This record gives sequence, structure tokens and C-alpha cells, in this order.
Amino acid sequence: MKLIPIIGLEIHVELKTKSKMFCSSPNDPFIDQPNLNICEVCTAQPGTLPVPNKEAIVWTVKIARALGCAVNELSKFDRKHYFYPDLPKAYQISQYDQPIGEHGKIELLLNLLNKEKNHRDRAIIGITRVHLEEDTAKLNHATTGNTLVDFNRAGVPLVEIVSDPDIQSGTEAKSYCQELQMIFRYLNVSDADMEKGQMRCEANISLQEEGKFEIVNGVVKPIGDYKLNPKVEVKNINSFRAVEKSIDFETKRQTEILEKGETWQQETRGWDDNKQGTVHQRFKETAADYRYFPEPDIPPFHPLKIAGEVDLPELPLEKRLRFHEEYGFSYADAFLLTADKHWASFTEEMISELHEWLHSLPETRSCEVKNSKNKSCKSHQELVRLAGGWLTSKLMGAMKERAIDIRILKIKPENFAELIALIFAGRVNSTNAQKILVEMLESGVDMDPTHLMEEKGYGQISDEGKIGAVVDEVVRANPNQVAQFKAGKEPLIKFLVGMVMKATEGSADPQVAEKLLRKKISAMP
Ligand SMILES: [Zn+2]
Repeated sequence: MKLIPIIGLEIHVELKTKSKMFCSSPNDPFIDQPNLNICEVCTAQPGTLPVPNKEAIVWTVKIARALGCAVNELSKFDRKHYFYPDLPKAYQISQYDQPIGEHGKIELLLNLLNKEKNHRDRAIIGITRVHLEEDTAKLNHATTGNTLVDFNRAGVPLVEIVSDPDIQSGTEAKSYCQELQMIFRYLNVSDADMEKGQMRCEANISLQEEGKFEIVNGVVKPIGDYKLNPKVEVKNINSFRAVEKSIDFETKRQTEILEKGETWQQETRGWDDNKQGTVHQRFKETAADYRYFPEPDIPPFHPLKIAGEVDLPELPLEKRLRFHEEYGFSYADAFLLTADKHWASFTEEMISELHEWLHSLPETRSCEVKNSKNKSCKSHQELVRLAGGWLTSKLMGAMKERAIDIRILKIKPENFAELIALIFAGRVNSTNAQKILVEMLESGVDMDPTHLMEEKGYGQISDEGKIGAVVDEVVRANPNQVAQFKAGKEPLIKFLVGMVMKATEGSADPQVAEKLLRKKISAMP
């Protein structure tokens, strides 16, 4: 019996519109003072009426489009009833049977990033629906045993994205969530920070026997007399790590139950970060329990008429593939460089500057690169790979250590390109280039790397006369190592090169140093 995990995700994302969904209270749920951004509408005073936020509808149309959904000609709001202190009206204005968007899909390229191959290379995840609703108030459970209600969050526009049950593993679920987060950020509709609760994830998981079910229009159907195992809904997942871990945990738990010949009831469980497991919360309610009916205070609306022409930016996946295929970055570097749109535009500006440098340096002038699509040129490809490594490991790393965000980075793309060109042309070695990078980063103003290199004497020495003098000195000062190397201990050459580098404070060209060392030692008696 082979078991297949069937996973669907429900993602909620708070939109960062100026005002709330159905009133003009400011949309700022993270303000320090509780119950400041509230009014009669979002606290459900009798006699108040909701007025939909146009911007929120437009942004939901954008999200739906970005996820390849068809936008419904006519859409409407519905009341979803339940009793809980975070919901002042005792119902939530949501969308039931006419959501803004339906029937979309999102593609995940999994093999290019994850080296372990226990998943599909590529997954197409269907998007069942994209709808708009309002967020609830926030409950703060005080240590005194009282519960305090903060209505700053009540009525914040919230978009729900329901996927088809097409996800097959924790890794896929995590990739799906990360891709969505990038899309929300590219569209500039939400900061989608999971730790802050701006993006929340719920997973529906059930394990089914291979070959005994099919997925028709996003619904899992049994084949023949097979009885489907019930769905388990997992809530309280507040990080990408928890998305992956909770699904892996649930997959293992359900496998163990089924292997004992037992089953379970449909239920809601919660992810417990301390226990690193899921725990029972309640047996699941059904749609009928919510007594959905059309919101009588808001007429049905035409989303496309409200939104007009929707311009979508280049989306993360397209941009990533372009960085990989057109510029020649490795897929892993392309992923990192496009995960944030500010990094992506920094990179694009840097690339166009690099082309200028490629033509101007005497060392690389032979390369005829007309445009970025020309990948035939070896120097060009090497240059881009070099730039990719310096961007993703050296620059990102140094910025992370100093808590510098790309949005406040003082280094201009053209100066970073110049540094890469200097390294590429062998004018400065890696050690000194890193020192230059750190100075550029810490100076607080834009700095010219060539100027820095000359001023600090960081330029690489490849002059054989100058290095030769140091080589003579190193050979004289290390007679034991030289003798052992001569007797066949090959790795000692690295030690001797290292001594030359140390003596020149990292400025000597290591290849020249090695060549001269070998020549000098082999000429010795
Ligand atoms: Zn309000």
C-alpha cells in the first residue's frame, strides 16, 4: 500500500491599503496603542453600514490575475456566521459562491533549487479561488486570566487564496508559500510577513492510497468502493519552517495510523512549535454551520469594471528564469537575486554597467558582447557568474552581518559593477576586494572602488620582479618546508604561496607566486 499525501493550502494575506475594508479607519493593526484605529463600523455599532474599499477590490483582482485566475464578471459579499469574541458583528463579511477570482494555477520549479530528489521536478498547483474578506480583532490573553480585545485589526482587508489539493509534500507546500509571498511583495499589496501574521497559512492534509482516488476540478474523489480518509486541517502555522514541518509531521502521523489499520475523524489540529507536532483542537465545522447568506448591505459588484485595466509587473518566476537564462546566473543565485524586487533592480542595473566595463577593460576587450542575450562569449558568462557569487554570498552576507537592508544600501550598482570588473581583470585579488567591499559598505557614502584600491594600495601585484623578491625571502626563511616539498610533499606549495600572500598583505597574484616558487625551488641544488 503506497500512500500519497494530498495537501491543499489556505493562505490569508492582509492587504496594506490605507484604510480598512468597510470603513475609513486607518489600516494599521501594528500600532502600539490598542483600540485606536476603530470606528462605529469596525466595532459593529447598531445602525452602521459597510462601504467596500475600492483599492482592496482592485488589489484582489491583481492577485487573482497574477495567479492566473479568471476574474468573475459579477462578484458579491456574503455573511459567514460564528460566535467568538474577536468578531463584533457575530458574522464576518466574506465571499461564498461568487469570489473575485477562480480557477488559476501557479508553477513551482523544485528541482533547480533543492538538491535532494524526493519530490517532483516541477509542480503545477491549481488555485481554486481568490476572495476578499475582513480580518478579525486580536485577542490578548492577559496573565490575570482576562482576555482583552484589540479592534485595531478588526476590518482590515484580508485576501484568502485556496489551492487545489495538488501539493504532495512539506517541501512543495513551503515553496508554494514562498512563491506567494514574493508575488504579494512584487505586487506591492502586502508585506506578507508570516511572523507578524500578515500572511497566515492553514493546511488540509489527508493520506490516500495510490491509484484509489482522482482529483477532479480540485476535488478528491474515490475510485470504485475506496473510502477516502478524512481531511485534517492544521492551523496556527506561522513560519515557512512550520509549514514544512507540520505537513511532514502530519504525513508521518497519518501513515502510522493507517499502517495499524486504523483511521481518524475529520478534525482541526494546531501546530505546536514547542512540541514540534500537531495537537487536536476541535472536530471540524462544515460550511452549513456558518449559515452563509448574501450580505444585504452591499450590492453585487463587477470587479473588472472597478479595477479597469490591470498592469501586472514581471512576476518572480518569470524574472528568475530570465536572470538564469538570459543573464546566465546560476538558478540558485537567480532565485536569491529576484526574491526581493529591490535586489532584482539593483542586479539589473549592475548587469548593464558590467557590459560597459567588459568593453572598456583592456583585459577583456576581445569579447564582443552586443547585448545581454549573447551567452556565447565565455568572458561574459564568467563575469556574470563571478558577479552572482559576489552579490549573493559576499555582498548579501556582509549586509546581513551589519543589518543593512537593500533599500538603504549606499553602494551604487555602477560602483559594484566596477569592483567586479576589477576582480575579473585581475587588478585586485579576492582578499583585497573584500576589504574594498567592506569599506564601500561601511563608509555611509557612495565610494569609487578604483579610487579606494589605489588609495589603500590594494591593487594586485603581478609584477614578477616584485613578487620574485618576496619569493626569495620566503624560500630563505622556510628551509624545512622547502626541503620537504622538494622531497615530494606536494601540498606544501600551498603553504609557501600562503607565506608570499602574507608577506604582501594579500596583494600578490597567487598564480604568479606559485609559478615563481616552483621555478626557484626546482633550480635549487
Ligand atoms: Zn472602522
